[in-house]
Amino acid sequence: MKKDIALSLTEKEDDLGHRIHVLLRRPFESALEYRYAVPLPPGSFVRVPLGKKEAIGCVWDQNSDVPQELAPAVPKSWPMKKLRAISAPLDFPALPLPLRRFVNWASAYYLMPPGMMLGPVIRMVEFLVENGKGAEKMGWQHTKNAVPEDFKMTKQRQAVLEALSLGEILSTDNLSEKAGVGVSVLKKLEEAGLLAKVPLPSLERNLLDPHFSQPKLSPEQAEAGDFLREMVKKSEFQANLLQGITGSGKTEIYFEAIAQALEDHKQVLVLLPEIALTAQWKKRFEARFGTAPLVWHSELTPRARSKVFEQALSDKPCLIVGARSALFLPFSHLGLIVIDEEHEATFKQEEGVIYHGRDMGILRANLEKCPVILASATPSLETLTNAQAGRYHWQKITERYGEAVPPSIEMIDLKALPPEKGDFLSPKLIEEVKATLARGEQALLFLNRRGYAPLTLCQKCGFRFRCDCCSAWLVQHQHRSRMQCHHCDHVTPAPSACPECGSEEDLAAIGPGVERIAEEAMRHFPEAHQLCLTSDLTSSQTQMQEMVRKIEAGEINLLIGTQLVAKGWHFPKLTLVGAVDADLGLGGGDLRAGERTMQLLSQVAGRAGRTERPGKVYLQTYLPEHPVMQSLQHGDFDSFMKLEEAARRPGFWPPYGRLAAIVIISENLKQAEDYAWKLAACAPQSEGMIVLGPAPAPLSFLRGQHRYRLLLRVKRGMALQPILRDWLSREKAPKYIRVDIDVDPVSFL
Ligand code: ADP
Ligand code: ZN
Ligand code: ZN
Repeated sequence: MKKDIALSLTEKEDDLGHRIHVLLRRPFESALEYRYAVPLPPGSFVRVPLGKKEAIGCVWDQNSDVPQELAPAVPKSWPMKKLRAISAPLDFPALPLPLRRFVNWASAYYLMPPGMMLGPVIRMVEFLVENGKGAEKMGWQHTKNAVPEDFKMTKQRQAVLEALSLGEILSTDNLSEKAGVGVSVLKKLEEAGLLAKVPLPSLERNLLDPHFSQPKLSPEQAEAGDFLREMVKKSEFQANLLQGITGSGKTEIYFEAIAQALEDHKQVLVLLPEIALTAQWKKRFEARFGTAPLVWHSELTPRARSKVFEQALSDKPCLIVGARSALFLPFSHLGLIVIDEEHEATFKQEEGVIYHGRDMGILRANLEKCPVILASATPSLETLTNAQAGRYHWQKITERYGEAVPPSIEMIDLKALPPEKGDFLSPKLIEEVKATLARGEQALLFLNRRGYAPLTLCQKCGFRFRCDCCSAWLVQHQHRSRMQCHHCDHVTPAPSACPECGSEEDLAAIGPGVERIAEEAMRHFPEAHQLCLTSDLTSSQTQMQEMVRKIEAGEINLLIGTQLVAKGWHFPKLTLVGAVDADLGLGGGDLRAGERTMQLLSQVAGRAGRTERPGKVYLQTYLPEHPVMQSLQHGDFDSFMKLEEAARRPGFWPPYGRLAAIVIISENLKQAEDYAWKLAACAPQSEGMIVLGPAPAPLSFLRGQHRYRLLLRVKRGMALQPILRDWLSREKAPKYIRVDIDVDPVSFL
């Protein structure tokens, strides 16, 4: 197949020139055909006519190397004279072959138009073409002039000057990020003569030093690190599961692999499950390698993103750390991928282009012929199964680093030891928090629910506040005195009376969210310096950085938060963790509810006692006998995963079978329902597969749209994609219906 494509690019068909496929940022099923006088290399960028306008696209080798069973049918060719001519090739480096193959695979696997998969890359190229290539040329320097008398030295302004104190020259992006200020602050300092614009030194500033500050590894760590170094040296595909208990130094261990890749002048990609974690990770990286990593996430300006993009294309070694979308960067010589906290569901992109960052990370490594490290204390059953079968190499780190020991985990049975009326914290937990604070240590109260209360109810007439656009309750956010839907952007001011019966006294908040726990904590621990940490309350990276600094500096001693605080943080003074509602997440009937609750709770428990002082964890639960609670208490992750396996294997549930969800979406309930049943009527039927549904989705109404679901399950080893393609082509969706296909679904809403 590859040969055919090469031919079609070089063979001149007639006087009209060469037939060239161009992939555009549009939801077309495949690349479009154009013609051009001379052949153009695949991966290069061109400007082409599209309708009455022009668009930028990428010269494409159609299904190159996609396995036969995944590949969609190749569309029919048009006669040459019907093709429009390419307007002009662009002066831009061609996308490397592994990335092109990656896009083709991913799009075939997820049944997503390849142009949508490549969309962000094309958009980046559009930006660079419009704004001129090359990173910013000018930077800022501290003039060290005297501060003018009438100039007010605010905290922010001071931070800028401090960031430049060593005579450094930094670009606007780097400086405003380092100082945590906006561009306007820099301008004010320039006006006052304290900052000057100077050319950025053309020297490669990103001099990563693999030997900058190498820690002394424990024997267990060193052995794991050595293995990873050897693996990187081989420059072959190999997946490696690095399973180490929380605090065992997984980061330090995979830093060894990174050091090796940098020594070999390779590029490295590290994926983190949460942007919020990058700030702390960056600092650790800088301490180890002497220079900050390049960061990639959606909050960056296009200018900052383009710099990372260009670095990936260049032939210099570099390290890029970021969110899953970094998988689509055009690396020229990738030597290693690390996926930290590989079990995290946040690696799954649920909207727009649906894909799983972990799975695609493994695929990308495979196509780049480089190793991939999956790090986790509690690997997903998918990854464990691959490790057990020998498809992945498996490393286990069983001890915490240094003096630290695993935290002790205890249940608080809420049936036996209920909180006082109106409280959510049991007396036992309150007492433990008090004792911890009195010892000068930090405590964390964890509740994975944003807002003040998940439900607001009128106790007189029974009215419940619901979102108008979704089948969901409105969540009270007291700090912002408003009601908010967690599924769409709907926000209303907090009500003062019941809209149904008009009563002003009977509105009751039912159940707790973190903000309510923060309020209760203020009552129990009035002296504490407390901080409530949720995604609602920290909107920017800069804010997050400031909060992390406060916690690390000990300015905060009581932390209250959602899963945002559960992830990979390292807060040395934190010794007590209380899970306010450990059972939350076990309901709902999700396939992975148990596994995920287990992972989340052991993550949050792992924040306790990470240095000399031992950690204690209390789980408030109504289900102390539940396997999740039992395995947490006994630190027995393996037995729990064996139970999970036993529950899923017989029915061919993932990872012992494969799933694809089909979500049918329409403004009109009847239309959605009709089409769902039509699809069901022509569902494939054969050995080893089963179709479940249709049924209204648990979130049957979302953003004003009705939703129906069907689920296809096949045995492991069967390819879902051709079955799905064939099925969906039998009953084409009418225009007014949207069909979302979710291969390997993680969420069942
Ligand atoms: P994990 O990711 O496994 O939870 P980390 O990599 O965050 O563990 O390590 C926990 C803490 O122990 C970090 O502060 C880390 O810097 C420290 N640490 C781990 N190994 C070493 C080592 N060999 N030398 C010095 N500090 C270490
Ligand atoms: Zn009422
Ligand atoms: Zn809503």
